[in-house]
Amino acid sequence: MSLLRFCRDGGYTVEPSGWLPDDSYAYRWSDRTPRPGCSRLGCPRCGADVVAWNGFDRIPGESVEAAALYEAGREAAQRDGKVAPRTSSRLYLCRCTVHSESLYTAMADPEAHSSRALPWRCQGHPVPELPWHLDGEVIDTATLPALVRRAVHGVAPAQTPPWPADQNLPGTWLAQLYAIVPAGAPRFALAAAVNAALTEEGHCARAVALDFYISHPRAPGAETLAGLLQSQPTLFRGVFPRSDAKEDLEQRAHCVLVERLRFVGDDGSTIDPVALEVARQNLLTPGRSDMSLLFPLGRWDMPWVEAHAVEVLATHPELIGALILILKPLGAERISSALTRGMQDTRLDPERILSAVRKKLFEPERSGVLNRLEAARRPA
Ligand SMILES: [Zn+2]
Ligand SMILES: [Zn+2]
Repeated sequence: MSLLRFCRDGGYTVEPSGWLPDDSYAYRWSDRTPRPGCSRLGCPRCGADVVAWNGFDRIPGESVEAAALYEAGREAAQRDGKVAPRTSSRLYLCRCTVHSESLYTAMADPEAHSSRALPWRCQGHPVPELPWHLDGEVIDTATLPALVRRAVHGVAPAQTPPWPADQNLPGTWLAQLYAIVPAGAPRFALAAAVNAALTEEGHCARAVALDFYISHPRAPGAETLAGLLQSQPTLFRGVFPRSDAKEDLEQRAHCVLVERLRFVGDDGSTIDPVALEVARQNLLTPGRSDMSLLFPLGRWDMPWVEAHAVEVLATHPELIGALILILKPLGAERISSALTRGMQDTRLDPERILSAVRKKLFEPERSGVLNRLEAARRPA
């Protein structure tokens, strides 16, 4: 097996309640659940594979020599009074370094002070050969579509995954599976079955598909979502995945679009122009606005935001603060130009605009914009 996959950020050490996989296939491919710690950490300094003693910590005041501890092993170290059980700590060690983890640490963390940086790095995780077994299911290209269908209807996986409880199961489970199976035919088979679930009768299946796409916004088929929101909005709008859910499927779909809008093609423009179109429509349609859609427009479609600032505010006055933040990089003159018409528009409250400018902008832009807008205010 030559191909390896590496944890992002060089791998993570995780506390005992975090997930440290038993098998070597699971790796940190995303910041989203299930966020595994790296089970394949190695030390470039001493050459050792890093080991983890779950629920153990050093004994305060005891001097500990890493090499001796590493060679002794956990049971001898405990017998000799060098380490003791502590439920909130996972003790990681190689021959040169000891680290007790009670939260999580990224190995390649640019924020970390060099004196506290750990020398370890993910050594890469193998890609499983199919057929393969995961959580009580047989994973194979030919049977993946049926497995995905069972998963989106909540009857797979057969066993509960080993990571901490996640309310977005089984969408997260499918996302994890997609990350681990070999690229090519297995991933395509999985993604195609997820895509079919987007238009299924059962709203639970659609919710699962959206959860999957939030983790893999560029998976094959994700490009159909924006078009579906336009052509078949009732699949998503006002459809709640659970009775206690605060977000309907349309809002969840918007989360996917926001993720997709982070990516650009070779020509520097967004990979999903239809998603931009959906964002524009949402901001000009009375009813519920989705603030998260405004930010990608500010990044990819600023001329539209400038030109439509007043229309957006007339439709969704509550977006004034977010709108000013998005216009902020343009400078006082262009911010003022975008908002001037709003000071005369009877649908808008000029005081609300001025108040938001005072809150969101700093000097010298603040005074510049306030003076221009005051001058443009409609006569009382
Ligand atoms: Zn790793
Ligand atoms: Zn070392």
